[in-house]
Amino acid sequence: MALMTKGDYIASLRKLKKRVFIMGQEVENTVDHPLVRPSLNACAMTYELAQQPAYADLMLATSSLTGQKVNRFTHLHQNTADLVAKVKMQRLLGQMTGCCFQRCVGLDALNAVDSVTYEMDRALGTEYHARFRRYLAYVQAHDLVVDGAMTDAKGNRRLRPGQQADPDLFVHIVDKRLDGIVVRGAKLHQTGALNAHEIIVMPTQTLSAEDQDYAVAFALPADAAGVLMIFGRQPSDTRRLEGGQLDVGNREFGGHEAVLILDDVFVPWERVFMAGEYAFSGLLVERFAAYHRQSYGGCKSGVGDVVIGAAQSLAQYQGTDQAAHTRDKIVEMIHLNETIYAGGIACSVEGQATASGTYLVDLLLANVCKLNVTRFPYEIARLAQDIAGGLLVTLPSEKDLRHPEIGPYLEKYLRSVAQYTTEERCRMLRLLENLTLGPGAAAYLAESMHGAGSPQAQRIMLARLADLEGRMRLARRLAGIL
Ligand code: SF4
Ligand code: FE
Repeated sequence: MALMTKGDYIASLRKLKKRVFIMGQEVENTVDHPLVRPSLNACAMTYELAQQPAYADLMLATSSLTGQKVNRFTHLHQNTADLVAKVKMQRLLGQMTGCCFQRCVGLDALNAVDSVTYEMDRALGTEYHARFRRYLAYVQAHDLVVDGAMTDAKGNRRLRPGQQADPDLFVHIVDKRLDGIVVRGAKLHQTGALNAHEIIVMPTQTLSAEDQDYAVAFALPADAAGVLMIFGRQPSDTRRLEGGQLDVGNREFGGHEAVLILDDVFVPWERVFMAGEYAFSGLLVERFAAYHRQSYGGCKSGVGDVVIGAAQSLAQYQGTDQAAHTRDKIVEMIHLNETIYAGGIACSVEGQATASGTYLVDLLLANVCKLNVTRFPYEIARLAQDIAGGLLVTLPSEKDLRHPEIGPYLEKYLRSVAQYTTEERCRMLRLLENLTLGPGAAAYLAESMHGAGSPQAQRIMLARLADLEGRMRLARRLAGIL
């Protein structure tokens, strides 16, 4: 099978029979739905750029399984150069779309499941790894989008999965049969679920023997019987239903999240990669999280480039670009954005091979990268809003701008530096509004906070991974304390 084009990808999604609900309505055709289409366009860029020779080095890789050319989003990292290329590819896509392009979660899940199933088989004599590799060969051959599903509903955070008042608050095995398992539960925050062909489900936390039915990892076709998707809302999302061009800000692209319900879904053994091996649940969570914390070093710096570009453009349109304080703010934004990227590159360069041969990022640096991402985009957005001025949140609608009577007033009074049109200024304001207050802010800000784990999760990892003893020894030696 060849790599899919953007057109092939869209056609392949039309063939799936997913059950999807959007704002209380069951929707059969999500491909053309105005609330979904921007996210589909963004995910489709992972196919479109892969067809362009200029981006081949970043977007394509040689499969370690078959020797065939595959999209990097289905590739197992074979060395640190692959890890670096992944981050660069994500920055490129963030720059091109200004939003979440969704396909990284599956890439990170595939790489994490690969090394963990290998180590699990070696320790326990199970046979998950070969099974997983067969599944991955199928994903690569068909160039599929895989949605990685980790975050359970979790209920009362003080209670373990099995202690919850409702046992389904974490995904668990409800039946083990000769031909497979039956699973029930829900996964929240499913990035790009509607645009995926496949879903890989993983546990959400370290589990103990009492909770072994919750230690389950498997792959499903996204339209498997019993799978329901409920589309998540975003700020100002219904502007997409108004049919205009200007007020949406980012005309073509956007991300999406969904609630995923697994209502007694059957999974054949061939697609099961963990079923009760609770001792390996923590390792799977840790590795997936590390890869996804690396991912943010790429995608969020790419979107940050667009935010910086929008702020600088507005400064030009409004005649403030030469002011010393504006220049200083732009430099600060660049510094913060490149620091985000530096974390993604650093944890990649310092990556190491796991026992399966697949490369893993440096865990400490990946967590530092993501902890920066929980803060810096907020400061970048704040500075961009500072530069933009109050019109960012007081601008009348596109319909007013086009109105025969009041449109000319707006054209006249919203004009700033003469060489730029009022429409250019308004379009840029709307883009920045999208990225820092609207649907784009859902991904650039709140998701930067919580995606791939909330800040506290990274702090716990930093405390665990930092060699404080070693650091104290360094200090004692120089202080002459033996
Ligand atoms: Fe990829 Fe970033 Fe979206 Fe995660 S948030 S799926 S890393 S684009
Ligand atoms: Fe994310």
